[in-house]
Amino acid sequence: MRAEEAASQLAEIAYLLREREDHYRARAFSKAAAALLNERPDLDSLRKQNRLDSIPAVGAGIARTLAELVDHGTSPYLTRLREQDSDEPASGLDLAGYRGDLHTHSDWSDGKATLIDMALAAAKRGYEYLAVTDHSPRLTIVHGLDPQRLIQQRRLIDDVNPELDGLTVLQGCEVDILEDGSLDLPDEALAALDIVIVSPHIKLRQEPAAMTQRMLRAVSHPHVNVLGHPTGRRPGSRPGAQYDFAAVFKLAAQRGVVMEIDCDPARMDLSVEHAKLALGLGCDFSFDSDAHHPDELVYPELGLWSARRAGIPSERMLNWLPLAQLREVLQRG
Ligand SMILES: [Zn+2]
Ligand SMILES: [Zn+2]
Repeated sequence: MRAEEAASQLAEIAYLLREREDHYRARAFSKAAAALLNERPDLDSLRKQNRLDSIPAVGAGIARTLAELVDHGTSPYLTRLREQDSDEPASGLDLAGYRGDLHTHSDWSDGKATLIDMALAAAKRGYEYLAVTDHSPRLTIVHGLDPQRLIQQRRLIDDVNPELDGLTVLQGCEVDILEDGSLDLPDEALAALDIVIVSPHIKLRQEPAAMTQRMLRAVSHPHVNVLGHPTGRRPGSRPGAQYDFAAVFKLAAQRGVVMEIDCDPARMDLSVEHAKLALGLGCDFSFDSDAHHPDELVYPELGLWSARRAGIPSERMLNWLPLAQLREVLQRG
């Protein structure tokens, strides 16, 4: 079994444990999954030598689960967790053909690496494009960017792009959806961006009728491309916003706003259930890491199981589009 395939299954176990509020074991499985992706060990040969526990972050218990995966392709533990969840895998989506990440952060806001380091890491992964989508000004604690700083960041991106071999950095912004559904940047600033993600970060507990109006207004905005982590949930610790999901997804589909599957293991937002609903209502998707560090660019690999279980084919995902086609889709407004 390939390391990335095993990682995806460990990540699914982590997710199901987190939903059961078993945070300690969830974290252990998440860490092991990330280690598999960063180290890419030869699992078959380690299994033969009985040395699966030599992989960083893999203790005896997780080594047993890995041994089952290598020997049988499945883990009875995962099967048991899934049965409680009663959801079967539904598509054979894989990441061959994944061309770029559309939601990442740099140290222009709360990222831990420079924009250039993020770009180099994305180029190393073979991506064709990387959208750097730092926060908007309302989030002052993370140094959100105002229009002036966005102009400066654009100059940097214009300077960097010709130096990058085969990778294009797109300038985006993760714009806050304010309490009334208006956006945290003026239209001229939004129009100058390559991609606009709008996300709910504050007042997630607004009562559902008001929250529905807020989200409908946000996806109606002509410059918006993506609804980022659409509920703001944190599985196992924060439930996320409640609103009329069907109404918002339907309007988004009509308006050409895609739904994000944010693959940060602490988020997995949309959930499988909501992604299925959005798919059925005609939405397309953006499948992103929300990385704040180059090491976190692996998150789409960790979230792959969720898109499979939701039955989403690659044709419905922006990240599988070549750059020229992606740009056409993004210039909708
Ligand atoms: Zn966010
Ligand atoms: Zn983000």
